[in-house]
Amino acid sequence: MGFCINCGNQHQDGVRFCRFCGTAQPSEQLLARLRSEAEQIRLLVMQMQQQQANAQNDAYARLEAMRLQAEAAARAKNQQNQTFRPPGW
Ligand SMILES: [Zn+2]
Repeated sequence: MGFCINCGNQHQDGVRFCRFCGTAQPSEQLLARLRSEAEQIRLLVMQMQQQQANAQNDAYARLEAMRLQAEAAARAKNQQNQTFRPPGW
């Protein structure tokens, strides 16, 4: 079963013209091509969304790495201060 692209009435698959309004219907080949194109677009959109999510995760990971680095640097500096504390303190 298909639906007329013009009037929306239901008609048998494979008919070339709507029996209600007479509008020429897309062939099965065209429909199949459109379906596969729609599927490709859907996959592309999913890919883009995935890439976006990955980029966001990367940014978070970089920020976290910078934070850990800063913490480590602060700890090292603290230790240095303790190590090189002038005698008599
Ligand atoms: Zn029609």
